[in-house]
Amino acid sequence: MSSAMAEITCNAGDGIWSASDEALIEHVVGHADRLGVFRRSDVRLSRVARTRYAYVVFDRTHRRNLDLVNAYADRIGLRLLGRFGQFDYINTDQVILRALALAKALGAAP
Ligand SMILES: Cc1cc2nc3c(=O)[nH]c(=O)nc-3n(C[C@H](O)[C@H](O)[C@H](O)COP(=O)(O)OP(=O)(O)OC[C@H]3O[C@@H](n4cnc5c(N)ncnc54)[C@H](O)[C@@H]3O)c2cc1C
Repeated sequence: MSSAMAEITCNAGDGIWSASDEALIEHVVGHADRLGVFRRSDVRLSRVARTRYAYVVFDRTHRRNLDLVNAYADRIGLRLLGRFGQFDYINTDQVILRALALAKALGAAP
């Protein structure tokens, strides 16, 4: 057995968000089948999950608000790390690099 995950980006409340699980599964499985990614007949189990706050969204006050939070965290001696900790749109590789750098800065043994 193998597993596959398809991600559809949308806004809470829009047409995609409100579509039925069956319609979303059909959309993904139908396209995967037509494109030759995998065969419909091979699918044993499907599940849909909706995540309301999945991405860091940059708005016009992003920089100002982030500077405020960073300055506050700094003041109380809190070290921030990660996509949601730093509210920075980074992927797993960057999270790991930053975690290693922070561990080093905090004096962890190499
Ligand atoms: C929809 C989506 C798709 C993504 N796709 C990719 C991709 O294709 N490739 C890629 O490299 N990256 C991808 N990412 C990004 C990747 O998942 C993140 O960059 C990475 O997981 C962030 O790691 P993190 O440690 O910052 O946060 P997380 O992985 O979110 O870890 C934070 C942890 O802290 C826990 N936590 C939160 N609050 C508390 C608390 N008060 N007490 C104790 N624990 C707490 C949470 O439960 C969670 O386990 C994606 C992210 C999302 C949301």
